[in-house]
Amino acid sequence: MPAVHDPEVMKIVYNRVLNKLVCRKCGALNPPSATKCRRCKSKNLRPKRLLAGMKKG
Ligand SMILES: [Zn+2]
Repeated sequence: MPAVHDPEVMKIVYNRVLNKLVCRKCGALNPPSATKCRRCKSKNLRPKRLLAGMKKG
């Protein structure tokens, strides 16, 4: 039976999926190390981190 509710695995998955920067201008996803949007060159980036409910662990 599938048991993918391991908190450590979930943490890794969340970090991999959400550790990105989203451009506020065009919505493109950029690597976490980016300082500018790779599509429109805007510096208006925000981190895509949905940590709601993750702080319980
Ligand atoms: Zn952009």
